[in-house]
Amino acid sequence: MSFGILDRDDIEYTRDYDLSGSSAIRTGGRAAVAVWPHSYFQLESCLECAASSGMDFHPCGNMTNILFSDHGYDGMLICLAKLRGIVIKGDLLTAYAGESLDNVINRAIAHNLAGLEELGGIPGSVGGATFCNAGAHGKEISSYFFYSDYITLDGRIRRMPAYSDAFSYRTSPFKDGETIICTAFRLTPERLTAQARQKKERFRTQRIEGGQYKYPSLGCFFRNPPLLSAGKLIDEAGFRGFEHKGAMVSPYHANFIVNSGNATSQALYELGEIVRNAIARKFNIELEYEIRFLGKFD
Ligand SMILES: Cc1cc2nc3c(=O)[nH]c(=O)nc-3n(C[C@H](O)[C@H](O)[C@H](O)COP(=O)(O)OP(=O)(O)OC[C@H]3O[C@@H](n4cnc5c(N)ncnc54)[C@H](O)[C@@H]3O)c2cc1C
Repeated sequence: MSFGILDRDDIEYTRDYDLSGSSAIRTGGRAAVAVWPHSYFQLESCLECAASSGMDFHPCGNMTNILFSDHGYDGMLICLAKLRGIVIKGDLLTAYAGESLDNVINRAIAHNLAGLEELGGIPGSVGGATFCNAGAHGKEISSYFFYSDYITLDGRIRRMPAYSDAFSYRTSPFKDGETIICTAFRLTPERLTAQARQKKERFRTQRIEGGQYKYPSLGCFFRNPPLLSAGKLIDEAGFRGFEHKGAMVSPYHANFIVNSGNATSQALYELGEIVRNAIARKFNIELEYEIRFLGKFD
């Protein structure tokens, strides 16, 4: 495979990239190549390189919600975490896909703009949070979404405007593999920001004190079924702290399946299936995965 275009445009990349080193849950095989575009033009070159060598490609942000297969990914992983920048005009904040969500919330507050505080402490990027319609405490990205500029699967640049019905629970209108370049949020002007700052910090601290960062994880493994809590069901089924080959149902939060030491992605997936089957048997409820999978699982 030729990466001449990447060399030509001085793009940061690594062949045979170890995914377990970057994934938040510390598992996964190797990607044929991982690229880190620092600008929109470099991103275009990466896509050009993938197309010209007939390689599959997949975008990612901070890798806090993707379970990579132990068999790896035979394509180009487009890591957008270095495509950063924030522009604020009036009540409109536009952030490149690689900005951390936490940083966006802080910058918004510093510019007297409020709204996203409930999402404080979610470790994702703007692109990942937009794609997943990340949310917490009754607020979602879509609550303040104004538009995203993105690249379609056939390479066209498009703007996704805010349609009221296009987002739903942890779901966005973007197709898997489309690449979000930036997202604009329309926020609420706030003259006194002390309260917003405190609120955001309170939510972030709650996560720390609630043990969310004690083990490598991908956040909630399963979506909440309508009007129910997946964590509560898993807890009631007696799985809190249950271990399987180094994967564990977190003792702190039963909807977190964590890497308690030396889990593989396959073991995490198997534990997910054990839990799903048990919940189906006990409560007649089919849990759906909230995390995303990339690559092959047996
Ligand atoms: C401790 C912990 C707590 C968490 N708490 C929450 C929570 O409260 N609420 C919540 O919703 N989530 C939570 N998460 C999950 C996760 O952080 C969010 O879903 C986050 O928004 C994912 O962002 P990311 O940049 O890490 O995306 P990644 O994991 O890199 O990618 C996730 C998905 O988004 C796609 N994607 C990423 N970037 C782009 C892009 N630029 N263009 C197109 N597609 C893209 C990927 O292809 C993949 O399908 C938590 C995770 C952890 C580890």
